[in-house]
Amino acid sequence: MTTEGILDCTQANAYLKDFGRDGLSAEELLDSRAYAGITYNDFLILPGFIDFPASKVTLESKLTKKISLKVPFVSSPMDTVTEANMAITMALLGGIGILHHNCSIEDQAAMVRQVKKYENGFITDPVVLAPTNTVNDVRAVKERLGFCGIPVTETGKMNSKLLGIVTARDIQFLEEGNTKLADVMTKELVTARKGVTLEEANQLLRNCKKGKLPIVDQDGCLVALVARSDLLKNQSFPLASKSSTSKQLLCGAAVGTREEDKLRVAKLVEAGVDVVVLDSSQGNSVFQIDMIRHCKAAHPDLEIIAGNVVTWEQAANLIEAGADALRIGMGSGSICITQEVMAVGRPQATAVYQVARFARRFGVPVIADGGIGNVGHITKALALGASAVMMGSLLAGTTESPGEYFYHEGKRLKRYRGMGSLDAMERNKGDSGSQKRYYSEDSAVKVAQGVTGAVVDKGSIRKFVPYLITGLQHGLQDIGQPSLAGLQQGVTTGAVRFERRTPAAQAEGGVHGLYSYEKRLFA
Ligand code: GDP
Ligand code: GDP
Ligand code: 5GP
Repeated sequence: MTTEGILDCTQANAYLKDFGRDGLSAEELLDSRAYAGITYNDFLILPGFIDFPASKVTLESKLTKKISLKVPFVSSPMDTVTEANMAITMALLGGIGILHHNCSIEDQAAMVRQVKKYENGFITDPVVLAPTNTVNDVRAVKERLGFCGIPVTETGKMNSKLLGIVTARDIQFLEEGNTKLADVMTKELVTARKGVTLEEANQLLRNCKKGKLPIVDQDGCLVALVARSDLLKNQSFPLASKSSTSKQLLCGAAVGTREEDKLRVAKLVEAGVDVVVLDSSQGNSVFQIDMIRHCKAAHPDLEIIAGNVVTWEQAANLIEAGADALRIGMGSGSICITQEVMAVGRPQATAVYQVARFARRFGVPVIADGGIGNVGHITKALALGASAVMMGSLLAGTTESPGEYFYHEGKRLKRYRGMGSLDAMERNKGDSGSQKRYYSEDSAVKVAQGVTGAVVDKGSIRKFVPYLITGLQHGLQDIGQPSLAGLQQGVTTGAVRFERRTPAAQAEGGVHGLYSYEKRLFA
């Protein structure tokens, strides 16, 4: 120490050891016995030390015990958010979509098939036709399924002698739809033998410049097909969430917990679903426990996300029943009026932190569901222990969300509604999932738990999700953590620090004091 009490500058870090840590640990921030429950806007994360570029931040995380995602983003099972197009694009971008169940079992299973068919390694069940089929049959397949590269075999089925292939170019200029495929198909084929690895097949496709590579057995019978367009899809979407064997995109779907939902699960599994979300606003019920046990026994490879829960006690029951992940949130959704009507729920940041802390002890990942309004909220939810975030309003109003755009007072909008809104519950009376999530059929009166609204056009999630990814990477960089695992570890050990925000501090943290401004989020 110098004479004036000024310390030696070279000892600043050493001195910190006595001075203590600035800010609060997560435990201090979220001690709900001492303070009120809080949510994302009530706190900030304090900056750390940066010694890496934001682009190097990795976001790989677990969705469930067995499924990992490169990007921890999940789209909500809502009929204004996730149908096949959203689920395909979310998976291509590294996240996953959960298909809603406010529709018949057949419609939901068809959406699962659409997602699973979108990209493939070996296509083991390709559409096949016979030489006696016609050009019109090919056009019908194109119309129904979107592709028309079709192998032609003797019987028109798999495991039959491959005779040729018909593609768009073979039929493009043909006016006569009744022409037999025998007369138009290409007969000189480049094929590969059964047993070839996917890498070898891909290399052959690259070299031969063809669009499709049929795989045949020693007798020349068709056993699989490989498509060149899948190589391009793989190249264009390096983060895509895919099965490591089939290379098909991962797909989730929501189901209820009624007896008839067991059939729904069976049909979804048949269609190839990877994970189901048991969709209850209060998941701690005998019905859900029974459903988890049933699914685990009947479909051992299926991953089950149970919920929703916001307390340790709720979580304990579902973890014990066998849940592979938990969905956290009650009343935090942007369209939701549960807390107002039921007087039940929990502020979301507290709920995420407390349930994540409990579930982590059992290796069960948790998903922060609802109330994510911007990139900062994503960073905060993940810092508090969530392995992934589920988003409704943030992904609604995009090109990939269901519904048509409309104009209101000069703004381009899309409808977004709560699945517990009267509007959603009235769709498809009878076999609608949403009516069963939020409405007990024994009640004479339907009590709404959500509202119907609209959100502004956000463009395509092909741009919006990369913005969210980059924003999250910058957030982690500021915190000084190059990975999500590191962030969560830092929070657990108390190395990552937090600060509470007063309402005045929140106002300060937003844009303020301007006469007018334009808020553009990314370019
Ligand atoms: P990586 O090796 O870790 O990049 O894993 P990938 O799954 O991306 O690639 C493994 C091999 O499978 C490579 O030869 C890829 O070209 C190939 N591959 C990956 N996805 C697809 C796909 O959708 N279709 C086809 N045909 N090949 C794929
Ligand atoms: P095509 O040339 O009209 O057949 O279409 P593309 O090759 O551009 O696209 C075919 C896409 O559909 C690929 O991603 C395939 O993995 C996928 N697909 C899924 N099932 C089938 C199928 O039965 N036959 C074909 N040809 N493609 C399929
Ligand atoms: P958001 O991302 O819009 O804030 O919230 C989406 C989440 O709200 C969904 O994933 C779902 O958990 C929840 N949710 C969807 N519809 C309703 C509803 O009508 N009522 C309630 N209470 N929650 C809803």
